[in-house]
Amino acid sequence: NAPFDVVALREEFPVLSREVHGKPLVYLDNAATSQTPRQVIEVFGDYYSRYNANIHRGLHTLADEATAAFEGARHRVKAFLNAEDARQVIFTRGTTEAINLVAQSWGRSQLAAGDEVLISMLEHHSNIVPWQLLAAERGFTIKVIPVDSQGALDMTAYRALLSERTKLVAVNHVSNALGTINPVKEMATLAHQYGALILIDGAQAAPHLKVDVQAIDADFYAFSGHKVYGPTGVGVLYGKKSLLDAMPPWQGGGEMIKTVSFDLGTTYAEIPHKFEAGTPAIAEVIALGRAIEWMESVGVGAIGAWEGVLLDHATQAVSQIEGLRILGTAPHKAGVLSFVVEGAHSQDIGLLIDQLGVAIRTGHHCAQPLLHHFGVDATCRASFAAYNTLEEVDSFIEALQRVIGMVR
Ligand code: PMP
Repeated sequence: NAPFDVVALREEFPVLSREVHGKPLVYLDNAATSQTPRQVIEVFGDYYSRYNANIHRGLHTLADEATAAFEGARHRVKAFLNAEDARQVIFTRGTTEAINLVAQSWGRSQLAAGDEVLISMLEHHSNIVPWQLLAAERGFTIKVIPVDSQGALDMTAYRALLSERTKLVAVNHVSNALGTINPVKEMATLAHQYGALILIDGAQAAPHLKVDVQAIDADFYAFSGHKVYGPTGVGVLYGKKSLLDAMPPWQGGGEMIKTVSFDLGTTYAEIPHKFEAGTPAIAEVIALGRAIEWMESVGVGAIGAWEGVLLDHATQAVSQIEGLRILGTAPHKAGVLSFVVEGAHSQDIGLLIDQLGVAIRTGHHCAQPLLHHFGVDATCRASFAAYNTLEEVDSFIEALQRVIGMVR
């Protein structure tokens, strides 16, 4: 039984009623981007038809209204993450930019030769490449926490990798390629025992789990708007206040300064503005606030529980398919079913199943080192959201069986 009314909930998502190749759309690519409910879409029309104005520096009504809505979204994100203070919420373009912010600001000023940054085998490229770019410049070493055969992090190896040299642990909360939920609270405790910080890439956790940055004791936490039923072009970096206060700006421009002078140099604004140079994605931020409001109205716990039902159902069904191998069988998973099929290229499956109206993702999922570790170049990935139904899972399985029959 659905813990909430999924049929009614689907009505709120206009795109879900469309057809693809003459078939009802079955959208199972939610880990890449989730769909948006009407109340999020409406923010754009409303903003641009009623109060489009640049924020913070205006003294007119439209600017005041836009600023209030923008800062209101910041307060919503603060509550969503259980942050101590709304000033710890920095708006970015997404998870990628949030991680790059930490690398370029905190990392560039704090990391040097002899230091170590621990990342994991499960990371998305966006939590690998920013560290590689910086390591080439600063000379620190990147070490990789391995995974076991189920795709869970090897915690014994993690403990062994930690040392006085470790300055940062940068890991995802949930793997986008396998769905593994990582024990980030325990990892934070261990990192802190060595005086290291922990940055958590929450891009795949925020859509499915109740995130509490204080309970986790995260130093940095990042997520993207477009994976939590919000728009593209916006994301969040949460940081501990003492860290953010001490970090240098990374992009210069308007909004992030206190005073600018050719003679006296420039002084910077307080957080969060210090890290928000230039005009932000105002409508997108407001829409992100609305998306979070939508998620909370449904209940983040209820969403995660329903997706668990869908994932279990899908896992059981695909397990019956001969020659199909699931990648990622850790006991704690969220939202993602990744698999390969003997004798069938993932790319072919993806293209053919689209002809039957089913959207899944195929490829390396921006996690090439992980896939390489499992000896594959690509997988098929079905990923779930609040609005998916058991009937859709059945349609997906039926379509998958047909496609496998065609290509084998
Ligand atoms: N980390 C993870 C785990 C992700 O799944 C993604 C998006 N696929 C990202 C980071 C990057 O997010 P974005 O492209 O929104 O910046």
